[in-house]
Amino acid sequence: MSLRIVVTVKYVPDATGDRHFADDLTVDRDDVDGLLSELDEYAVEQALRIAENSDDDVEVTVLTVGPEDAKDALRKALSMGADKAIHVEDEDLHGTDAIGTSLVLAKAIEKAGYDLVISGMASTDGTMGVVPALLAERLGVPQVTLLSEVSVEDGVVKGRRDGDTASEQLEASLPAVVSVTDQSGEARYPSFKGIMAAKKKPVESWDLSDLDIEADEVGLENACTVVESAAERPARTAGTIVKDEGEGGKQLAEFLASQKFI
Ligand SMILES: Cc1cc2nc3c(=O)[nH]c(=O)nc-3n(C[C@H](O)[C@H](O)[C@H](O)COP(=O)(O)OP(=O)(O)OC[C@H]3O[C@@H](n4cnc5c(N)ncnc54)[C@H](O)[C@@H]3O)c2cc1C
Repeated sequence: MSLRIVVTVKYVPDATGDRHFADDLTVDRDDVDGLLSELDEYAVEQALRIAENSDDDVEVTVLTVGPEDAKDALRKALSMGADKAIHVEDEDLHGTDAIGTSLVLAKAIEKAGYDLVISGMASTDGTMGVVPALLAERLGVPQVTLLSEVSVEDGVVKGRRDGDTASEQLEASLPAVVSVTDQSGEARYPSFKGIMAAKKKPVESWDLSDLDIEADEVGLENACTVVESAAERPARTAGTIVKDEGEGGKQLAEFLASQKFI
């Protein structure tokens, strides 16, 4: 028996660098440094652990929808140990929202073939946390989201979802979509061997026509959500420094009371 896992990985702007909106209020993805969304590293890690713990043949494919540089995210996932990668890129994708992105991902997943889709809990830029559910709906398969533990056995995916007051054990028959949290297990660092091996692993490139998607199904013009305005966050102001000249404690207490901390 074999198991085909597709992991959806997003290429996001590096949060430690300068980030901008373009003139049309979409995120500027061309002139910024980017990387594999850290939350998607957990998804790759879980796919690799399932493969390592399985007696069956498991193939791990990583999939991204994004600009040319999104290949960097795929390379990172391949160097962690994924077997192959698919990059969907098309100039008509500019401005596509979560609904459109889920359409493109779902069509690519169907074309690739899958038993299990593993997503991150949210991207580190859009952070909507809706794509896994949208994918399950589009693919017509069960979804088990926000898992902090995941395993596959006899055609069933099982996992634990931790809430504030209780933990649930959940399972679904395959094919299915799951998303994993940042509590699911530390993602591995690519080894030197893994980085060298990644250079030889296959990366397929598809555009919208490969997926039978028309330009008017995606893009900014057809997005269901619109960014009305965006403004830079005001610069941080200097903090309040209390010098203790005998009344420091009193001043601290007054400050905390004025901020309603006490
Ligand atoms: C070139 C380009 C321009 C875009 N412009 C806009 C825009 O102007 N407005 C807008 O609303 N959206 C835009 N998007 C889409 C947006 O970046 C998100 O992919 C989409 O809205 C999903 O929202 P999210 O990132 O909050 O996903 P979440 O639901 O938070 O993501 C959850 C999980 O879904 C998967 N996932 C999400 N996005 C991708 C992806 N692209 N590839 C692979 N896996 C993914 C990951 O596993 C992720 O952890 C654009 C995308 C591209 C590629």
